[in-house]
Amino acid sequence: MINQYAAEAMERCELLASCSEEPDQLTRPFASEAMRCAHEHVGRWLSDAGMNVRHDNIGNLRGRYEAVAPGRPTLLLGSHLDSVRGAGKYDGPLGVVVAIAAVKRLHDAKTRLPFGIEVIGFADEEGLRFGSTYLGSRAVAGTFEPGDLDRTDALGMSMAEAIRAFGGDPSRIGDDRWGEGDLLGYCEVHIEQGPVLEARGVPVGVVSAIAGQSRYALTFKGEAGHAGTVPMEQRRDALAAASEFVLAVEGEARAGEGLVATVGRLEVHPGAANVIPGEVELSLDVRHADDAVRVDALRRILGRAHDVPAKRNVAVAAHRLSENAALPCAPRLVSLLSQAVQDAGHPIVQLPSGAGHDGVAMASLTDIGMLFVRCKGGLSHHPAESVAAEDVAVAIDVVGRFLELLAKQP
Ligand SMILES: [Zn+2]
Repeated sequence: MINQYAAEAMERCELLASCSEEPDQLTRPFASEAMRCAHEHVGRWLSDAGMNVRHDNIGNLRGRYEAVAPGRPTLLLGSHLDSVRGAGKYDGPLGVVVAIAAVKRLHDAKTRLPFGIEVIGFADEEGLRFGSTYLGSRAVAGTFEPGDLDRTDALGMSMAEAIRAFGGDPSRIGDDRWGEGDLLGYCEVHIEQGPVLEARGVPVGVVSAIAGQSRYALTFKGEAGHAGTVPMEQRRDALAAASEFVLAVEGEARAGEGLVATVGRLEVHPGAANVIPGEVELSLDVRHADDAVRVDALRRILGRAHDVPAKRNVAVAAHRLSENAALPCAPRLVSLLSQAVQDAGHPIVQLPSGAGHDGVAMASLTDIGMLFVRCKGGLSHHPAESVAAEDVAVAIDVVGRFLELLAKQP
């Protein structure tokens, strides 16, 4: 059933989609005019829901709903307000408008809880403008790296200048760090960005962990030659070797429960129709919610990278680009969110998140929890991103029940 809060949340996602840097698609980078437009709307909604609103230096928008008495701990709720280029309407904003709806329900009922609530619209999660992710949440967690201020955008403007133009003081980002007393945790509602909930036929799911991730660059080196004159048995075709590897990666990942591995970029040199490929560069991305499983799978996959080309007399080199450990959600929050889902009359589905979220940065500050909302076809980072108003109503209901359960905790 769609109530007024869910209908309003859907309208708000539509309205925020009009705050874009480009007229024909949704693109809302960090500290942009489009973000200023989003802040005008969201600031009004936070204040309508009974919250005190402030902008911090990095450019997060923060609303505070006071506890029943001063000196009580705070629960942080939120998501990000920036987007990728050509984004959908829900990745990020949905979590902010659902959090506001949950607080507005309390405000409308003239209820205060034994803890304060701060709703945060994070300034930058996607890293579109400066290529560095989690700027907003890292500032709140106190892990912002001042060296990032020298990064420049596509037009040559530095991050420090962009922050100043948006109204913040780049030299005072340290002040954005949480310093207002005890925290109960950070909880985020987000679209699933995958097809699991849709396949299971449930509106929402409780995130168990944010998957760990390894990224590698691999180079296969054979020998280029004339496509018409070098006999097949004498070739050292780097692309044929790389192709065998790509299929081996898929095979290894398919054999592992919950394991995903992707070769998403492939460059062939010299890249001509009449030349045998002499060199291939490719990317490898491996993820799993359990670090031990990921590390083990990676060892097998990199082993295949060396076995496959050996018989083709092609050399291979693997270079590690990044390695992020899995982040388990706090068992206490997972259990309260699961209880809230059950109380709302839905089956409990727990699932890992394959994508990174602000929770990755927030985990160094406090416990994290996440609730995923089913999205159509599992599609995200795309204009056709879609969620049902009925599912948004469930998400608001679940967050409301979660707040009540948390209020009853000793
Ligand atoms: Zn997101």
